[in-house]
Amino acid sequence: MKTVGYAAHSADSALVPYHFERRDLRANDVAIEILYSGVCHSDLHTVNGDWGPQPYPLVPGHEIVGVVKSVGADVKNYKVGDHVAVGCMVDSCQECDQCHHHEEQYCRNGMTGTYGAPDRQTGDITQGGYSKHIVVREEFVLRIPDNMDISKAAPILCAGITTFSPLRTWNVTKGTRVGVIGLGGLGHMAVKLAHAMGAEVTAISRSKNKEKEAIAMGAKGILASTDADAMAAAANAFDIIIDTVPVKHDVTMYAPLLDVDGTIVIVGQVGPLEEPLTLPLILGRRRIAGSLIGGIKETQEVLDFCAEHNVYPDCEMIKMEDINSAFERLAQGDLAHRFVIDMSSLSAE
Ligand SMILES: [Zn+2]
Ligand SMILES: [Zn+2]
Repeated sequence: MKTVGYAAHSADSALVPYHFERRDLRANDVAIEILYSGVCHSDLHTVNGDWGPQPYPLVPGHEIVGVVKSVGADVKNYKVGDHVAVGCMVDSCQECDQCHHHEEQYCRNGMTGTYGAPDRQTGDITQGGYSKHIVVREEFVLRIPDNMDISKAAPILCAGITTFSPLRTWNVTKGTRVGVIGLGGLGHMAVKLAHAMGAEVTAISRSKNKEKEAIAMGAKGILASTDADAMAAAANAFDIIIDTVPVKHDVTMYAPLLDVDGTIVIVGQVGPLEEPLTLPLILGRRRIAGSLIGGIKETQEVLDFCAEHNVYPDCEMIKMEDINSAFERLAQGDLAHRFVIDMSSLSAE
């Protein structure tokens, strides 16, 4: 199938229109017309080569919402016209213990990323959601709940599941004291999801500039990390802290905020951190942990949870042609929301 998207052709070039082929449907494939595509900070890191050399040309995008256009002969769960979604993975081995536990993101044989990864059968490089169409095997297609606003759902597929999964893993429930570092795409979803779970949520940010927004999302307020007195007063104040900061930073300063047995979960930063000190960890049996997206079953759960609890990302809708300026704004940081590309702005020609 011929399609069109926006691709990077090198680490330092802008995204430009790119015509390419989606594969012919295999028996278990679903062909999707993409309606909305979220813009994740990792799209920017990846196309810039921050995480290593990339197979250019590369079409990023792994927060995908669309409508089924056709299905392969063996597809059981989807039909033409269904509203569906695709997240950060499009395949895994389906045979290992992790795949059997619905944790395909930790597949022993490596999950297949939605873009920039070799297809398990052909070796062709996968291309992501900044495009008109995508073809994905049924097992990696999610269902959009009937009552969901599809124009706002895309960021749930990465920002939503990436924060939902650790909140669930660490049993966040009514009354759990949750800190969220950073209020960008991931952080603002962490605040909303934890609040919807009944937790007592505090945003942790360098300044209180975005306190009004944080409170509107469900936080009690902002703890300013630059305010030494406030940080000292917040010692032992959290059971769990979700750290969404996407750049190299210091986690040692946050460790004393955890109560005994508390955990900082890093979900935003890939690569080296400032050197952590062990003392606050040892003194409170505190942990620094990491977490990668979530499995397909749990991704369906977060979509259903958001529909049920009316939790939506704050989205700024952009046109496809505005992606490069959106990337610039993302690189400068300080957004308390997610860009979503309205894919109808991209002509199919
Ligand atoms: Zn992402
Ligand atoms: Zn596997």
